[in-house]
Amino acid sequence: MKVKQQLVGLSPYKPGKPIEEVKKEFGLKEVIKLASNENPFGCSQFAKSAIKEALEKLALYPDGYAQSIRTDVSAHVNVKEDQLIFGNGSDEVILILCRALLTKGTNTVCAWPSFSQYKHNAVIEGAEVREVPLVEGVHDLDGMLAQIDENTRIVWVCNPNNPSGTYVNEEQFKQFLAKIPRDVLVVSDEAYFEYVVAEDYPQTVPLLKEYDNLMILRTFSKAYGLATLRIGYGIGNSDFIQKIEPAREPFNTTTLAHVAASAALKDQDFINYCKESNRLGMDQFYQFCKEHDLKFYPSQGNFILIDMKTPGNKVFNYLLERGIIVRSGEALGFPTFIRITVGSASQNEAIIQQLRAFINN
Ligand SMILES: *Cc1c(COP(=O)(O)O)cnc(C)c1O
Repeated sequence: MKVKQQLVGLSPYKPGKPIEEVKKEFGLKEVIKLASNENPFGCSQFAKSAIKEALEKLALYPDGYAQSIRTDVSAHVNVKEDQLIFGNGSDEVILILCRALLTKGTNTVCAWPSFSQYKHNAVIEGAEVREVPLVEGVHDLDGMLAQIDENTRIVWVCNPNNPSGTYVNEEQFKQFLAKIPRDVLVVSDEAYFEYVVAEDYPQTVPLLKEYDNLMILRTFSKAYGLATLRIGYGIGNSDFIQKIEPAREPFNTTTLAHVAASAALKDQDFINYCKESNRLGMDQFYQFCKEHDLKFYPSQGNFILIDMKTPGNKVFNYLLERGIIVRSGEALGFPTFIRITVGSASQNEAIIQQLRAFINN
């Protein structure tokens, strides 16, 4: 069989190692996974109850337009219902955007290292990918601007950036947006929006009034703790969304995801609890890094990238054998770093103890 040329040499996404696999491989009873920026506190009880009620509907196709969650999200973010597009995770919204805008002969601009799926999907569509290195872990917006030409279709700003956790502030983002040609889509990927505490983090939703070339991505996978249900969304201009809708699969999000996400939205106490715990956990890691004079990037997400001054895979394997799964920076463009998802206080303490042992070894 002859697959698309673009697929040759492309590897599938490498996720964090699954817990069950690690238990078997190393004969462990307890395994802590802090590798995929999942919520260590699970999800809201409201979401679980909603799913139980919806179990009677499994035989029915979901509502393809996702009307119920659409109504709730539009009220929550304060936009019109037709300014939203729902995806099987925000990953799928990235795919839809690439499918709708990119072809051979076009290009797309993103930071490097950043979230892998911008490049991955662009490559499949045959577009050229222009990656602009981060400067000190932060998007080089001027460098990205310089890469835009008449064939550019999408510019990606991962904010905060995965894997560095750094962010582009409101002033920087506004100035950047003002300089982008109006026929180039700017995507602000805000997967960690709920965790952000920086006061100068951009409020992007109000900018939609001025910029019809802006698209904001959010998800229920991270702070809302619903990663397994695969639901995320894009917020943008109504006319633009209407144009790209045909590139969306008819039943791409499920009834269970709709009801759980709607219920989870109503439990902002849970989100606030997770946000506060995340900052306390982040402080545990900051303190550890300072004690050991390890470089790290201050993070607005629920993860931290730490320079262990040795190959990331070595630290990854050391922790793995001891029942802790993190991400090695080697696969993320930071070869001597590891990326750790901030867990519960006791999970954080457990990993910090192992890291201390590794350093003193
Ligand atoms: C996790 C993540 C996503 C994708 O999340 P979904 O589970 O597909 O909604 C998108 N962007 C970034 C930067 C992420 O870290």
